[in-house]
Amino acid sequence: MPYLDDPLIIFTDLDGSLLDHHDYSWEPAQPWLDRLATAQIPLILTTSKTSAEVAALQSALQLTHLPFIAENGAMIHFPASWRPESPVPGARYADIRHTLEELRHRYDFEFRGFGDVTPKQVAIWTGLSEPDAALAMQREASEPLIWFGNDLDFSHFKKCLTREGLALTRGGRFWHVMGVDAGKGPAVQWLAAEYQRQRGKPVITLGLGDGPNDISMLEAVDHAVVIKGHHDHAMPLSRHHASQVFRTSEFGPHGWVQGLDHFITLPAREIQK
Ligand SMILES: [Mg+2]
Repeated sequence: MPYLDDPLIIFTDLDGSLLDHHDYSWEPAQPWLDRLATAQIPLILTTSKTSAEVAALQSALQLTHLPFIAENGAMIHFPASWRPESPVPGARYADIRHTLEELRHRYDFEFRGFGDVTPKQVAIWTGLSEPDAALAMQREASEPLIWFGNDLDFSHFKKCLTREGLALTRGGRFWHVMGVDAGKGPAVQWLAAEYQRQRGKPVITLGLGDGPNDISMLEAVDHAVVIKGHHDHAMPLSRHHASQVFRTSEFGPHGWVQGLDHFITLPAREIQK
């Protein structure tokens, strides 16, 4: 198990993980956030939100000097100081929209994406306020859509997307169209490799998440914290050993704290406090 002075990188989901499912507070996690900041351990926000939605939160958490992963892994956002050398994965939003519109024109597919509607409509779909809906609509690398057509057309639609190098993943209410190789897991792997390249030595990765869209991230890290979620989905992982996977008994930021307490060994002087 890693120590606080090991070359750790931590990837965390937001809603229901670092943030409380109901009031979005991260207060219980603050002592650990301070510890990580002091030890200069990067904390990478890894979320389904858009960059526009994450920006204010990243700033409130004092993490703006770090990259973050948005749109379920389809987008990696870098601080101004970063110059990644390897090509950053992902499709461009404009290209995704272009493909979707062309397919709809050709086959009469019945769907509506965020790019087809107004903030008012997205607010109705999501329950967000209109200004928040506008932030959620600032897409860079993935498109949420609602399918209105039949099942037969849907499987045809899926095949067409695959041919175009795009994939469809299930969200809560929406289907998400993104690059075929995109996901939280691939984004975590890419960023860990980039850290390793910059530092010239191996890194140890730890991930925390509560939902099915976190599974690829939890599979990609050395140490996985499965935070108890407000949902009925099983969270199957290929590993079970306590040195690799820890399942919390608490929800949200309380579970987040349990996970870090489990995996990260503090220096003796801190334990005595
Ligand atoms: Mg979550």
